[in-house]
Amino acid sequence: MSKKQLLDTVAAEILVCHKCKLWKTRKNPVPGEGSTNSTIMFIGEAPGYWEDVKGKPFVGAAGKFLDTLLAEIGYLRENVFIGNILKCRPPKNREPSPDEIQKCTPYLNRQIRVIQPKCIVTLGNYSTGYIFSKANIPFNGITRAHGKFHKVSTSDIRAMIFPTFHPAAALYHGEYKEQLLRDFHALKQELAEKGLI
Ligand code: URA
Repeated sequence: MSKKQLLDTVAAEILVCHKCKLWKTRKNPVPGEGSTNSTIMFIGEAPGYWEDVKGKPFVGAAGKFLDTLLAEIGYLRENVFIGNILKCRPPKNREPSPDEIQKCTPYLNRQIRVIQPKCIVTLGNYSTGYIFSKANIPFNGITRAHGKFHKVSTSDIRAMIFPTFHPAAALYHGEYKEQLLRDFHALKQELAEKGLI
């Protein structure tokens, strides 16, 4: 099967998933989308209101800012893969529960194995905490972790991990906007040095 067929298979399973109770309140699951050959993958937390309505990741206000950040490093969203830890919206955008993360992340792990990105950018505490735990990297919150590169080699992931803040944080606190921009510029430089951009 091609990478596209494998990702379509994962997405088809997500569309009918009943593993946790979020299926009862979701409008649409959000499997994630983008280039199957992408060298870079962005992982957010969970769909919000507009993602749930449209079935696509990062299409609300935080998504618009993510598009701006991608443009800063010369990417269009079609050139990268964008996914989330949870594929369904938690009611009222509450935080993901440990049970939901445990039940949902096998989908993300399969997506990572198919895409084999060279670089994974984790957006915010939840995705960074999850990927760090898989890679056995101690995690003490995104404020300490952001902006640093980690070379990771596990059965699922052979990539550089780059944590940064969640783009939504910049919508509520202006100082995160500057930090995100700085992180994305550092990312651009590293990707250029590694010949990935
Ligand atoms: N926030 C996320 O973490 N993911 C989305 O898809 C949208 C907002």
